[in-house]
Amino acid sequence: MNGKTDRRVALVTGASKGIGRAISVELAGNGCCVIVNYRSDEHGATQTLEMVKEAGADGEIMRFDVSDHKEAQNAVDDIRSRFETIDVLVNNAGITADGLFIMMPSADWKSVIETNLNGFYNVTRPVLEKMIIQKQGVIVSIASVAGIMGNRGQANYSAAKAGLIGASRVVAAEVARLGIRVNVVAPGLIKTEMIKDAPVDNIKTLIPMARVGRPEEVASVVRFLCSEDASYITGQVISVNGGMF
Ligand code: NAP
Repeated sequence: MNGKTDRRVALVTGASKGIGRAISVELAGNGCCVIVNYRSDEHGATQTLEMVKEAGADGEIMRFDVSDHKEAQNAVDDIRSRFETIDVLVNNAGITADGLFIMMPSADWKSVIETNLNGFYNVTRPVLEKMIIQKQGVIVSIASVAGIMGNRGQANYSAAKAGLIGASRVVAAEVARLGIRVNVVAPGLIKTEMIKDAPVDNIKTLIPMARVGRPEEVASVVRFLCSEDASYITGQVISVNGGMF
């Protein structure tokens, strides 16, 4: 794709499957040209792009690792050089490496922080430079109920997601006068590959609605936050979790 488009341009990280795929399709249906980022699953990213096109939008797939500062910077530079604007950024890429804190290897602590939290820095900072020049833009980051309540066995993940919430609130305040909105969506348990090994039946007893959520139920909230309907909402964390608190 040469980057010439009349539509709003959205970059969705971690969009080869799951929640990122649903967000890409939802934004496409809402008139965005979608850049579908992935790290390893090119086939999945290509499928997402097909779904974006079926929704009537344009887009492309783009491989980079959000935890790699240089790769992320180069990718954003490339987008900036080919597209007139970057209107929407959704920081969705995330991983887990669960285990009790006392048993947690340093590698599991670091990898989760590097992807879920440092990835926010690596992608958001260069995108924000462009949005400041444009004097408009919307950023939504996907945190988790674990970043609000904590979750046994997820000290690394909870720390990263809580950090993401803190950083987003600060950035929101710093750029609010420049026409840029920054919000967070905090899902509860959502049916994706990420939870394929989770004891869903046990966890369901903690969810007032007594069911797991669907990726589309997160994506519709992200679409709302990215739209003009949310023009006075910034610095907020919206939970999508079936009533957990
Ligand atoms: P998923 O199905 O496992 O998908 C994760 C996505 O992130 C994949 O597209 C993966 O790309 C990408 N990714 C992982 N590391 C990356 C990296 N370093 N650079 C670029 N992309 C990377 O997970 P999901 O459930 O959709 O989760 C999406 C987001 O929602 C995550 O931030 C997660 O923490 C959050 N969340 C999920 C749940 C849940 O219950 N599912 C609950 C709360 C929050 P490749 O496959 O190409 O490697």
